[in-house]
Amino acid sequence: MKTLLLALLFNIACFAQSNINGTLVLNDPADHDFVVANAWVILQQDSRIDSTRVDNNLHFVFKNVTHKKPKLKITPRHYPVDTSYDLNKLKEGENEMAINYSPTCPFGKTGKVCPVCHKSDDVIPIRYGLIASLEKKGDEPDKTPAKRTYKPGGCVVSDCQPEWHCEHDDRDF
Ligand SMILES: [Zn+2]
Repeated sequence: MKTLLLALLFNIACFAQSNINGTLVLNDPADHDFVVANAWVILQQDSRIDSTRVDNNLHFVFKNVTHKKPKLKITPRHYPVDTSYDLNKLKEGENEMAINYSPTCPFGKTGKVCPVCHKSDDVIPIRYGLIASLEKKGDEPDKTPAKRTYKPGGCVVSDCQPEWHCEHDDRDF
């Protein structure tokens, strides 16, 4: 019993503590106010879960983190694919980190207008699913057969995916 107590005390004394000083870097600066009002940063250390808000500079702090490899998540989810961060290089003392964050889907914000060239001349739709079954006989013949009329987007469908593709800039949006 005495040995166990000593071992416990030793463990507590040697437990390294870290502070996390993080900043969210927004993909779209227009999301700033929404993020300040709504975002939570969640830190998971095994079964213990802590959460905090960001300040007006999108800064957040977790003090006295004892877990060596905590996980960090942000809610609302990060778009287009939700991300969970394994903080496995946490060092004793201060840890600065910047995390890219997009709380809204980056696609569908400009309609058919390309966000790069601001034109819709070379913009074609992206089609998802089994393209062959979508094609009907009797569709209007292509006026310019050399150009493709849509870009196949694959079969995986999610709630955040580009609808348009600019051939000029090779950009999905
Ligand atoms: Zn373009």
